[in-house]
Amino acid sequence: MDMFLNRQNSEEIVNTNEPYNYNRMRIDTHLLQLKYRFLQSSIIGNSVLGKSIPAMRIGRGARHVLYHGGIHANEWITSLLLMKFIENFCIAYEQNRTLYGYNARELFNNISLYIVPMVNPDGIDLVTGNILPGSEILDNYRYIASNFPNIPFPNGWKANFNGVDLNLQFPANWEEARRIKFSQGYTKPAPRDYVGEGPLTEPEALAIYNFTLEHDIKLTLSYHTQGKVIFWQYLDYNPTNAYEIAQKFAQVSGYTIEEVPYDSSFAGYKDWFIMQFNKPGYTIEAGTGENPLPLSQFEEIYKDNEGILIYGMALK
Ligand SMILES: [Zn+2]
Repeated sequence: MDMFLNRQNSEEIVNTNEPYNYNRMRIDTHLLQLKYRFLQSSIIGNSVLGKSIPAMRIGRGARHVLYHGGIHANEWITSLLLMKFIENFCIAYEQNRTLYGYNARELFNNISLYIVPMVNPDGIDLVTGNILPGSEILDNYRYIASNFPNIPFPNGWKANFNGVDLNLQFPANWEEARRIKFSQGYTKPAPRDYVGEGPLTEPEALAIYNFTLEHDIKLTLSYHTQGKVIFWQYLDYNPTNAYEIAQKFAQVSGYTIEEVPYDSSFAGYKDWFIMQFNKPGYTIEAGTGENPLPLSQFEEIYKDNEGILIYGMALK
């Protein structure tokens, strides 16, 4: 154990050269906390299969912001993005350096950033091949997928273990999301686009919903792939500065601000956050290509998004 920790001391912890899964995320959160004592964490809930879902906290300031990733299984690269960002922030803090032009210690004193890097650990372990072949769990996934033969398995899987799309679980006109997705044929558990039997029936969605309600969150970022696009609207809600912040995000990332297509306009986390609090909430669609995006894109995705991640913390 000592040797292991010593080796880690001289190296970075979060390895961006291998697909990211639940166990790696848990090991990394532990190692980061051992190395960086100022990093705090809590468990916000459990997945259907009983995996605990951690939130990491950076900072001790009064302004609270919340970032999450990995709510869609085949978008696991977003979990890696957020974990690498946590590590890079910690390094900058330790060395009293700036990150994207902002002093890390100053940010630390002014804000409390909560990061939930992996909202959907069960689904991510399916897509990354971390389920025992021949297990009942894998059989269950296969059974759900067999009803949707046009969706590649497991690469097309976005949902949780129950076949519910976690980003269609939030109480922001959920009925309309249901109507749309049912009309598209997603009327039962599916690899993606099934809204479930009601809002917040799934423990992963409920966990991040409750966590958001329990903290006075001023801004949220929801990380997805792909498209290099920033979504900032819900219906005609217009939180103060929401568009100006989106413009800044676009400027630092090179991503494009777009209007959400009507069919994807309801029951997402950011939709609910904007509706509930009338505060800025964003969906960032990182990278380009077909999900799951290859690790060869990681460096570019990180470079494009570091400015957004820092600017979200630095706002007054
Ligand atoms: Zn997504």
